[in-house]
Amino acid sequence: MRAPTSVAALRVLVVEDEISINDVVATALRFQGHMVTQTHDGVAGLAEATRAAYDLIVLDVMLPGYDGYEVCRRLREAGRQTPVLFLTAKGEPEDRIRGFATGGDDYVVKPFSVEELVLRVGAILRRSGPAAASDLIAYDDLTLEPASEEVRRGGRRVELSPTEYRLLHYLLVNAGVVVSKAQILINVWGEDYDGSENIVELYISYLRRKIDDGHQPLVQTKRGSGYVLRAQEA
Ligand code: CA
Repeated sequence: MRAPTSVAALRVLVVEDEISINDVVATALRFQGHMVTQTHDGVAGLAEATRAAYDLIVLDVMLPGYDGYEVCRRLREAGRQTPVLFLTAKGEPEDRIRGFATGGDDYVVKPFSVEELVLRVGAILRRSGPAAASDLIAYDDLTLEPASEEVRRGGRRVELSPTEYRLLHYLLVNAGVVVSKAQILINVWGEDYDGSENIVELYISYLRRKIDDGHQPLVQTKRGSGYVLRAQEA
């Protein structure tokens, strides 16, 4: 898989009571060069998250002590804006998590692959990290320059509306990973948006017309689950 540009080392806190999942997540992130601290319940996780400065918290929802939502709520109350990647179980309503996720946050649904987790972490860093404002993001022959908001496909400039730009940016930082309509709504339209999910389909069609017309299509529909930016449908 072609991942977008590599990311710098992060300080990551993992809060997950299932030892095997905690270890898999920590090992995968250490392998990426990140510094990882592991905690196994909500109380210890919150204490650690407020004690030290982390770039990212990987936070399980179902935890002993405080659950993941409570940890996040208390963290925000303490003035910490550290991005959170929630680990949720299948069946957890997506709108519930949307209520807790703010602009920098995201979630993955268990069971997830290590690859998906690593890509999602990279995406959060690219959105929230210090380098996010200037780094060129590239996938295949598509490039996006955050500083100038310039988008090119095959070297040719593509003009996008602000919403189309944010949608493409979100798909691009998650390249290779399927994102649901609910995730797109949080990240592109914001957590206050309460309109229909159909707006996502509409804007995907606008985006396709502008970046995929006359090229190998990059925006793929995953029926029933969402969309993915990928050169070829696997
Ligand atoms: Ca758990």
